[in-house]
Amino acid sequence: DSDELRTLLLSRIHDVPDYPRPGVVFKDITPLLADPAAFGALTDALAALCRAYRADKVVGLEARGFILAAPVAVSAGVGFVPVRKAGKLPGATLRQAYDLEYGTAEIELHADALRPGDRVLVIDDVLATGGTAEASLHLIRRAGAEVAGVAVLLELGFLDGRQRLQASLDGAPLEAL
Ligand code: AMP
Repeated sequence: DSDELRTLLLSRIHDVPDYPRPGVVFKDITPLLADPAAFGALTDALAALCRAYRADKVVGLEARGFILAAPVAVSAGVGFVPVRKAGKLPGATLRQAYDLEYGTAEIELHADALRPGDRVLVIDDVLATGGTAEASLHLIRRAGAEVAGVAVLLELGFLDGRQRLQASLDGAPLEAL
């Protein structure tokens, strides 16, 4: 059941204090990726959400979102679409800037990767401030597609990312496994 899944997933995420900077507790998912039972259970749960939300595309957020989203796309039988840090995609792109604690960052989506009417599930490992996810939702809407939902492995509740995402979710579900 979902309590068992939670316990399994949490046991495979390691806290790394003061990485990459003093004061940050980094959530390291590499032990989870190395455990086929845990990675498989996570993939199954995300693929079930993909079906429940009737998504026809899965968007993974660079870089750990790629690792989680790719097997979900295959399992659910839908396409995988990468949202990348600026300057990495070779074709024509839509670009979206967002605020970081210090300065700004930019992410990109291939302009022809989504079709109007596509229902898109966004997947990432960790929802922190929600800035990256929020920018990805803007890109999806700018491409003319619909946001079916956002799914993350872990939500850092104290950073209020869910709050920040509220408006851009526009009623779509945000699930933290
Ligand atoms: P944010 O835009 O603040 O929600 O940050 C989200 C991105 O940063 C995600 O793609 C995460 O992979 C990464 N991230 C932020 N904080 C952490 C953390 N404490 N541990 C691991 N990854 C993090």
